[in-house]
Amino acid sequence: MGHDLSQDAEIWDDAYKLDRAHVFHSWHAQRNLDPTEVVTGHGVWLKYGDGREMLDFTSQQVNVNIGYQHPKVIEGIKKQAELLCTVGPDYANLARGRAASLVARRAPEGFDKVFFTNAGADANENAMRAARLFTGRDKILSSYRCYHGNTGAAISATGDWRRKPNDYSRGHVHFFTPYLYRSEFSATTQEEECERALAHLEHVIQFEGPDTIAAVLLESVPGTAGIIIPPKDYFKGVREITKKYSILMITDEVMAGFGRTGFWFALDDYDYTPDIISFAKGCNSGYVPAGGVIMSDPVAHRFDDIVFPGGLTYSGHPLAMGAIVATQEAMEEEHIVDNAYTIGKDVLGPQLTALYDKHPKIGEVRGKGVFWAVEMVADRTTKEPLDDATMKQIVAEGDKRGLILGVHNNRIHVTPPCVISADEATQGVEILDQVLIAAGC
Ligand code: PLP
Repeated sequence: MGHDLSQDAEIWDDAYKLDRAHVFHSWHAQRNLDPTEVVTGHGVWLKYGDGREMLDFTSQQVNVNIGYQHPKVIEGIKKQAELLCTVGPDYANLARGRAASLVARRAPEGFDKVFFTNAGADANENAMRAARLFTGRDKILSSYRCYHGNTGAAISATGDWRRKPNDYSRGHVHFFTPYLYRSEFSATTQEEECERALAHLEHVIQFEGPDTIAAVLLESVPGTAGIIIPPKDYFKGVREITKKYSILMITDEVMAGFGRTGFWFALDDYDYTPDIISFAKGCNSGYVPAGGVIMSDPVAHRFDDIVFPGGLTYSGHPLAMGAIVATQEAMEEEHIVDNAYTIGKDVLGPQLTALYDKHPKIGEVRGKGVFWAVEMVADRTTKEPLDDATMKQIVAEGDKRGLILGVHNNRIHVTPPCVISADEATQGVEILDQVLIAAGC
C-alpha cells in the first residue's frame, strides 16, 4: 500500500507552504492570497486540510457535475491508464471514438463530428475558427454579458471586465442580450425583453454589415454573467435572424451543458438548432481536462477536402476520453440529469424563492436545474447592487457553517453538483438562510 496522504497532517501543512512559495494563481494579485487546502471529496462534499467536511454549493468552476470521486469515473480513468496513457491525435483510438459518439449523441440530429480540445476556451477558439473559415467572414458577435474563456479570441468574445486587459484579438463586436431584471430595453415583461433584444441584435448586424459577420456566439445560459435564463423564444429569434443573413450560430454549452440545467444540453429546452456547439466542464466533470466542438454536418463536411488549420498535441487525450466515456455512462445509468431537473423544480426553486420572501436584500432568484442565481441588492426598489464587503461576509459566514458559496459581483451562484440529494440541497439552503440572517440581509 502507498502512503495515505490524507492522514498526514504535516504533508498537508507542506501543501500550503509549497503553494504559497511556488504556485502562481489565476485571476489574482498574488501577495495576499490565502488558499484553502483541499484533501479529498465525495459526492457533494469536500474535505479541507483542517479536517472539515464542506457542502459544496459551487461545483468549483461549475464543472464537477457528477460530484467528487465518482467510483465509475475513477475506474474508467484507471482502466484507460493501464491500457494506454497517451497517444497523438492522428491515431484512431477506441476511447476517443466512444467519447465522440457519446457526446455527439446528446447534440441535435445532424451533429456527428467532434473536435476535442483541452478545455472550454480552446473549444470556443476552434468554434470561431470553423465559423470564420466556413463563411469566409471575420466578425464574431457576442454578448456583453458572457464569458467564453481566457485565450486569444475567446477572451475578446467575452463581455465582462476580463476582456479589457486582454483584448488583442480583432473582429469582435458585442451586443446586449436579454436580462429583464436589469433591462437595457426598458422592458417590463419577458416577451417585451425578448422582442426588443432581437430587434437590437438585428440592428447591430445591419450596422456592422451582415456580410462581414461569421457567427453569433452565445452561451445557452449566460453563467458567470449571472445565470440569466433567456426568454423562451430568444434563441429561435436569433436563429431566424442569423439564417436571414447567412450568419452561423455557435452555442456555448461549456458551463450549461451536461446536466447543469436539468437537460443534457441547455439548448434542449429551446426550440432551435445552432450550427456549432462548444462544450467542456461537465463532459467529464474535469476529472481530466477536456473540451470540444460539435459540428453540424454542413460545417464538418466543409473540411472533408480542405485542411482544418487547428490542432492540439492533446486533442482527444486518452485519459480525458476514458473519463468522458465513464462519466457519460454513469450519468445515464444513474439518471443524474433527471436528478438535477427534479432538484431544481422541487427543492432549490421553491426553497430559494422562500428565501426571497424572507430576506429583503434578495432582489431576484432565477435559475433551473442546479443552476441558480440569488441576486443581492441594497434596496429592492433601486436595485442597487449589494456592496462587496457584505458579499464577502456572506462567503465567510457560509464557510463558518460548512457551506462553500460562490459569489460573483452582487450574486450568490447556487450551483451544486448534479448528484445532490434533496436532503443535501435543503441542508445547504437552510445554512444559506442562516448566512443571510448573520450578514444582515
Ligand atoms: N465558456 C463558458 C460559458 C464558461 O463558463 C467557461 C469557463 O468558465 C469557458 C467557456 C472557458 O472554459 P475553460 O476555463 O475550461 O477554458
